[in-house]
Amino acid sequence: MNQQAMDLGEPSQEHLRLSVLLPLPLKGPLDYRLPEDMPVPAPGTLVRVPLSGRTAVGVVWPTDEANGKTLPLSKLKPIESVLALPPMVDDLMKFVDWVAAYTLSSQGAVLRMCLSVPAALGDVPVKTHYLKADVPDGLRMTDARQAALETASIDSPMTATVLSECAGVSTAVVQGLAKAGALTPVEVSVDAPFAQPDMNIEGPELSDEQTMAAEAIAGQVWQGGFKPFLLDGITGSGKTEVYFEGLVEALKEPGTQVLVLVPEIALTAQWLSRFEARFGVTPVVWHSGIGMAQRRRAWRAVASGEARVVVGARSALFMPFKQLAFITVDEEHDPSFKQEDGVLYHARDMAVVRAKFAECPIVLASATPSLETLINANDGKYEKLMLRERFGAAVLPDMQAVDMRSEAPVAGSWIAPSLKDAMEATLAAGEQVMLFLNRRGYAPLTLCRTCGHRVECPNCSAWLVEHRFKRELQCHQCGLTRPTPEACPECNTEDALVACGPGAERLFEEAKSLFPEARISVMTSDTMTNPRQTAQMVEQIAAGAVDIVVGTQIVTKGYHFPNLTLVGVVDADLGLRGGDLRAGERTYQQLVQVAGRAGRAEKPGRVLLQTYEPEHPVVQALLSGDGDTFMQAERDSRERHAMPPFGQLAALVLSGPELRDVLEYGRRLAAAAPALEGVQFLGPAPAPLARIRGLHRMRMLVHSAKRSGLQRLVREWVRAAKPERGVKLKIDIDPHSFL
Ligand code: ADP
Ligand code: ZN
Repeated sequence: MNQQAMDLGEPSQEHLRLSVLLPLPLKGPLDYRLPEDMPVPAPGTLVRVPLSGRTAVGVVWPTDEANGKTLPLSKLKPIESVLALPPMVDDLMKFVDWVAAYTLSSQGAVLRMCLSVPAALGDVPVKTHYLKADVPDGLRMTDARQAALETASIDSPMTATVLSECAGVSTAVVQGLAKAGALTPVEVSVDAPFAQPDMNIEGPELSDEQTMAAEAIAGQVWQGGFKPFLLDGITGSGKTEVYFEGLVEALKEPGTQVLVLVPEIALTAQWLSRFEARFGVTPVVWHSGIGMAQRRRAWRAVASGEARVVVGARSALFMPFKQLAFITVDEEHDPSFKQEDGVLYHARDMAVVRAKFAECPIVLASATPSLETLINANDGKYEKLMLRERFGAAVLPDMQAVDMRSEAPVAGSWIAPSLKDAMEATLAAGEQVMLFLNRRGYAPLTLCRTCGHRVECPNCSAWLVEHRFKRELQCHQCGLTRPTPEACPECNTEDALVACGPGAERLFEEAKSLFPEARISVMTSDTMTNPRQTAQMVEQIAAGAVDIVVGTQIVTKGYHFPNLTLVGVVDADLGLRGGDLRAGERTYQQLVQVAGRAGRAEKPGRVLLQTYEPEHPVVQALLSGDGDTFMQAERDSRERHAMPPFGQLAALVLSGPELRDVLEYGRRLAAAAPALEGVQFLGPAPAPLARIRGLHRMRMLVHSAKRSGLQRLVREWVRAAKPERGVKLKIDIDPHSFL
């Protein structure tokens, strides 16, 4: 065959051209050539390809004919090998494309979230195990050898360590037997298979309204097809039991998989034990806190279909499920579902999209649904299922305001007399108290009494927060810590620094001085650093080993403490001060959730809200229990101003080390903004956090009165303005944070 005939550019060879999407922030998939001796891999196949001098793992990507084909086939690099992993399913690839387009990210950046465990893509390490073989003729028998052979199994291999321990012999005995041929070595993957959920465990008997909701969900799971539900049930109404019935139905079909998204899984030990009680096993757990080996095992088990149930934080949404049959997003209103770096997405919204591509039902569960979800439910896009009663004897707690204008505690203390009295009575009755203050540390501000200096972070526009337990000052923006100084860093006066305002640690101190006998626990992200420690603390509280719990927003997340009957909200106005779009909604949700911790069993609960604004609509809604009216008012106001979800927002954050450059880029963007009806461009203005980690930050906001076309508009606009060197641009579609 001569050179001419081998020309790879011949049209008949075009089937050898393959698009491969790499988990890198590139423009799109890259073209590679299929070696002629390699069978054509299906879209979704994981392949190893050369990439500028190294190799990378990518996914054979479906292409639309229109783009690509810029390089002749002969110029393309060949695919190196096909990975022995199940191909990515079609619905996940569509999801990746969709998320990329919606968030204005590259497909590769989204794919990277799906391939987030490099170790899972290679070979899984193996470990030698031993099986019993036929005893070879002439084997010298000893008591130890006898014992080892009696212990070894012909069908379930054991490691030398396990075998020697069980037989009470040394590992040398095992090795000797293997050498003599009396034991057969086999290589076993170090990843043990996941235990399968037990479908024969009876669930609890459901109440009538629980049954109605459970049947609607299970019926849809049985039928299949995309359908979103809002499971709107007050705290303690048994939402978990209800959506568990959806899981049961989904798992009846062989091979199907279920995803449950929860906010901050590291905190949900109680959820895991409930799952275990219902299904006899622990589910696959997925969040940023799990170790590498566990990640690899989980990822591969999800990809192979072996893992039937995954419970995880928002990133679990990008796991390579083979056959998703049901999704639940628990506490769907929770702000932590919004990812604030990398690809900026909202996991609840994207979960609905994922369910759509996977053609399966999805349940969004909450006692305080987000306005977005409520509107979808009221418009009939989501089916609304209501649970109006607390399960069993439990009733919703009684709410009262403590008007701080007439009941101000003495300077330097934060617990008003009526809250103190209620605490006293509760403790005397042998019941538990929770004090809620959403502020970590001892005091948010440290001030010099002599010169008025405020101790600030050198890298951020933020005050340093005193953490007295650790004897340090911390920046909550960049994580900088330094020992609490003895003297003012500005004027050097000794003992002149004073703590201003309360944090959870300071409240602990005050509670301790009011009730010296009480056993007090502080629940914050500082004291709950790992899942095991958290589980222990939660267990202790549930078992009654603690009298007073002082906590930040961490305590609002679904805990069930049966003996907790009083919740004191120390500063009900705190969340309202930020004043962004969702401040009212978020404060309302948070306070309903924290109030929901009280009186969850037989004993009724009570909630005291310390506020300087008892007439504020949020406080009024809490006191009257009329959340519907409050949310309706929020809805009307959003509609009037064409705010989300009626209109749409996009935020641009510019950041860079040189303020001048950041300003310059901002000016250029402002100049490039097109004049369009119904679209407003705001800014650039200094961000409320004008500096983080030494980077200057400016913000711009695009507001469109319509819900469509915003991405295209932003893309074209940004393209029209020349970028500035050293200035980073972050685009946030549907922003939730405005800092
Ligand atoms: P929610 O998530 O709505 O706040 P949970 O699902 O945590 O409520 O239920 C609150 C408590 O009531 C839990 O301890 C749960 O086990 C219990 N519970 C709910 N429904 C039932 C039921 N049908 N039978 C027995 N216990 C139930
Ligand atoms: Zn800082």
